Amino acid sequence: MGLFRLLFWIALIAVAIWLWRRMVRKPVRRKPEPSALPMVRCAHCGVHLPQDQAVQDKERWYCSRAHLEQDGKAGGH
Ligand SMILES: [Zn+2]
Repeated sequence: MGLFRLLFWIALIAVAIWLWRRMVRKPVRRKPEPSALPMVRCAHCGVHLPQDQAVQDKERWYCSRAHLEQDGKAGGH
């Protein structure tokens, strides 16, 4: 008699876990793709390039360190 109750509870828990996993399971596999890098614009020459290849100066982006320095020297613009 006790065995049946035990099996009943195991089945009940198994169903509960199955239902819970079904509800919890969501497609949250959104890993950032390397090709989907944000594009930035060079503040000096206006060329667009991926952020990882750009040179940042405060809030500005440049295609190269040379343009960063040139833009810095230009001053007030
Ligand atoms: Zn540039």
